[in-house]
Amino acid sequence: MNSSDQFNPMQNLGFDILMTMEVAILKRHSSRGYQVCGMAPYFYTQLFPQLDDGSHCDSPWQYSPMLEFFLDEAEDFFEAAPEIGSYISSGIWVEELDSGEELPLSATARVLADAQLLLVQAVREEYAERVRILRKARVELLERRKITSALNSFKKKALYDSLTKLYNRGAFLDILQNQIANLRTYAPNLALLMLDIDDFKKINDDLGHLTGDSILTQIGELLRRSLRKNDAPVRYGGEEFAVIAPNTSLPQSLLVGEKLRRIVAEHDFGIDRQVTISVGCTIYRPGEDSREFISRADAALYEAKHNGKNVVCQRDPWTVHVSSTPGTRA
Ligand code: GH3
Ligand code: MG
Ligand code: MG
Repeated sequence: MNSSDQFNPMQNLGFDILMTMEVAILKRHSSRGYQVCGMAPYFYTQLFPQLDDGSHCDSPWQYSPMLEFFLDEAEDFFEAAPEIGSYISSGIWVEELDSGEELPLSATARVLADAQLLLVQAVREEYAERVRILRKARVELLERRKITSALNSFKKKALYDSLTKLYNRGAFLDILQNQIANLRTYAPNLALLMLDIDDFKKINDDLGHLTGDSILTQIGELLRRSLRKNDAPVRYGGEEFAVIAPNTSLPQSLLVGEKLRRIVAEHDFGIDRQVTISVGCTIYRPGEDSREFISRADAALYEAKHNGKNVVCQRDPWTVHVSSTPGTRA
C-alpha cells in the first residue's frame, strides 16, 4: 500500500487536531466517491449515520440537500484539474440535530498535494453570529434601498404635474428661487415666460373636459420638445404654463415666446379648431424678489390677452416698456 492509496500516513495528529476543530475530512478517490479520513468529529457522527461496517458515512450529502448542492460544485471544481492549494467554499447553512439544536455548517473543496479533499466544518457560534449580523445588515441595506427608491419616486411625483409631465407650481417656485439665488449680478439674464391658453373655457364647454385635458397634455409635450435643456417648463395652474429660461436676455425671451406661440398655433390638436396661447415675458431685475418677477411676467401676459390673444408681450423691467409680437389676431 503506498501513500497515494490512502491518505492516512503520519497525519493522525493532524486529523485529531482538525477533529477537535470540528472539521470532517473526506478524501476523493473517484467521481462522487469519497472516504472519511481519520476520526470524524462528533457533529458528523450525529448528523450522518455510520455505515453497516461501523465506518463513517462516506456520502453525507444524501442527508443534506445543501451539501449535495455544494458537491455538484465541488465535482466540477475537481474535474477542472485545479492547481494545488486552490479551493472553493460553500456558504454557511444550518442543519438540525436530533436534539432540535441548529448547527451551522460550511464546506470546502480543496486540493492538497495529490489529494482532493472535501472538508465539512461546524461553524463556530461566533462566526455564525457574525454571519447572522451580516445577513441582517444586508436585509436592512436592501430595505433602505427600497425606501430610498420609493422616496425618490415620491419626490419625483411631488415635483411634476401628472397630466402634462411638466414641473408643478411647487417645483416652479423652488427652481425660480434657486435660479435667482445663483444669478451672477453682472449678467442676470434670467427670463420668465407666462403662457395661458386662449378661450380654453369655451373649448371645454364645446368639446368636453377630456378634450380639454388632451390639449393640456399635448401642450406639455410641445413645451418639453421645443425648449432648451436648461429651460424649465411648468404647469403653473389650470391652463396656465410658465417657462423659466436661464441665460436668456429680454429680446431673446420675446423670441422664445414667439416660437412657442407659433408652435402651438400651428399644431394639429386633432380637433376642428385652432388652439392658441398668449404669452407674457420679462427678465429678472437684480434685487427684486420672486413675487415681483412673477407679477411682471403676469402683467405682460395680461397685456397679451388685451392685445387680442395669440400674442406675445414683453415687459422691460427697467423702463416698463411693453413690446409685443403680433400673432394672427394681434
Ligand atoms: P382666456 O383666453 O382669457 O384665458 O379665457 P379662458 O377661457 O382660457 O380662461 P378662463 O380662466 O375663463 O377659463 C379657464 C378654463 O380652464 C376653465 C377651467 O375649467 C379650465 N381648466 C383648468 N384646469 C383644467 C384641467 O385640468 N382640465 C381641463 N379640461 N380644463 C381645465
Ligand atoms: Mg385661458
Ligand atoms: Mg387662465
